[in-house]
Amino acid sequence: MTLMSFAAAASTKFLDFLYPPECVICHTPGTFLCADCLAEIEPIAEPLCPTCGYPLPAPHAECRQCRRYPVRWVSAIRSVALFTPGVLREAIHKFKYQNMEILGKSLAPLLTTCYTINQMNAQVIVPVPLHKSRYKQRGYNQSEILARQLSTQLELPVDTTSLVRHRRTKPQMSLNATQRQSNVAGAFLCNGNTISGKAVLLIDDVCTTGATLDACGAALRHAGASVVTALTLARAV
Ligand SMILES: [Zn+2]
Ligand SMILES: [Zn+2]
Repeated sequence: MTLMSFAAAASTKFLDFLYPPECVICHTPGTFLCADCLAEIEPIAEPLCPTCGYPLPAPHAECRQCRRYPVRWVSAIRSVALFTPGVLREAIHKFKYQNMEILGKSLAPLLTTCYTINQMNAQVIVPVPLHKSRYKQRGYNQSEILARQLSTQLELPVDTTSLVRHRRTKPQMSLNATQRQSNVAGAFLCNGNTISGKAVLLIDDVCTTGATLDACGAALRHAGASVVTALTLARAV
């Protein structure tokens, strides 16, 4: 152990001593997201749209989401739960905007379960990238943290360099449907040839209309990806 890594380990221990882990929602000591709070997250259940993963009122009913916001480049989107007020939404907010990178470890198993239940067969995991200016501002990419955890759990490689967001975009939540499409259209580029011929799994924290995932899917397919599917923690209502 080098002096630096010894110092880092010691300071982590010291911080644990000063600030022992507690649930960010209910403050129960022990973990950052306790089992009781995790159990409150209600997974999206069948019937759901086979393409965009949005819940349907009845099996084989027409999907209104797909009619309003068609997704062309991603063959299937699946999300853990709806983005309604509650544990998941609060946890994502802290994970993304309150420097709680540590929550990635608690949230990633939800993605792993969703991946397994939906039998999504991918060969490589790709997180939705941030623009470099946003990355600098936040200090981390929340989707990349999730993708790395998932990569370990599923024993699949993760590629964090091929797909880049080369143009700055506005937060999708702040725009209407038409603006969302033009906001992200052409914002992503896929470099290199490591993606070619691969079944890619895109990872993001929240799927709003699917426009961001679709724009990433277009770049990946143009780079030769054989198929693109996507997995997110939450799905906007
Ligand atoms: Zn809790
Ligand atoms: Zn749909």
